[in-house]
Amino acid sequence: MERRSLFRIFAAGAGAAACASRATASPAAVAPRPDAEGLLVDVSLCIGCRACVVACSNANSLTPPRDAEGLHLAPPSLSAKTKNIVKLYQGPDGQYAFVKQQCMQCVDPACVAGCPMSALLKGDRGIVRWNGDTCIGCRYCQIACPFNIPKFEWDQVNPEIVKCELCRTRLDEGKKPACVTVCPRAAVLHGKREELLATARKRIAEHPGKYFENRIYGETEGGGTQTLYISHVPFQAIGLPALTKESLPQKVAKVQETIYQGFLTPVIAYGAIAAVMKKRWTHHEEEIRKEEEETGMRGQL
Ligand code: SF4
Ligand code: SF4
Ligand code: SF4
Repeated sequence: MERRSLFRIFAAGAGAAACASRATASPAAVAPRPDAEGLLVDVSLCIGCRACVVACSNANSLTPPRDAEGLHLAPPSLSAKTKNIVKLYQGPDGQYAFVKQQCMQCVDPACVAGCPMSALLKGDRGIVRWNGDTCIGCRYCQIACPFNIPKFEWDQVNPEIVKCELCRTRLDEGKKPACVTVCPRAAVLHGKREELLATARKRIAEHPGKYFENRIYGETEGGGTQTLYISHVPFQAIGLPALTKESLPQKVAKVQETIYQGFLTPVIAYGAIAAVMKKRWTHHEEEIRKEEEETGMRGQL
């Protein structure tokens, strides 16, 4: 296991340990909420125009960094100044892909489990949202996230955790996420998770051999995500980490269960020994009492 993975488990465990209900939770898989919504990113359709980056910045009143000439909005990576980026990946065979990156709205989010103050929570539509009223700036959410998404406003007096919240205010107003509305290629769609999965399956079925492993990234990875990807290049080549079907909170719950079981075993053993000793002591006391009655002499316990 990588050092970073251990830190993630520690971070998720730290938050979980601060929450008693988490500490005793069963490590059963969390099912997607019926109202879960997200994005479907079709990497094969993206042309890297970055219209979605600009639209996202405008919708969130953020100013991403510009390129060296100061002309183009070209944030190289996610930061507190941008919730959405588009990266260019080029494979050894010359095959390339533009990849949009933002929060995955995990089904069982590690950032939520990692936060000791419940400042991150899963709200309506399964959107993972940040609550500034309780955040203490510990940044466990940053360490816990397997996609390296949440960013911290280091340059602010009252810093916030910045990440895509699926344009939830726009959704409440009946609008689509800003990045979806401007994409000229329909490379990013918004909808209910089940509908997005159906769309992705349809595209895969209609284009045999086009999509990597004929599967959808996020259907099961890390316990499932609400933002999903289909791609013509390998997922790992475009920065989507290889994750097991178990979410990080599930893994943490398993580790904790093992620890508690390991702790309970000696407790149960000592309890059993104590019960036997008490029974024997009570029996011994009765024998002494009988002896005292028969002999009239005070016995020694
Ligand atoms: S991608 Fe990271 S920040 Fe987004 S919900 Fe998942 S764990 Fe949280
Ligand atoms: S859903 Fe909204 S916040 Fe998220 S990447 Fe798209 S425009 Fe940005
Ligand atoms: S707007 Fe669409 S095509 Fe342009 S970079 Fe974003 S996802 Fe790609």
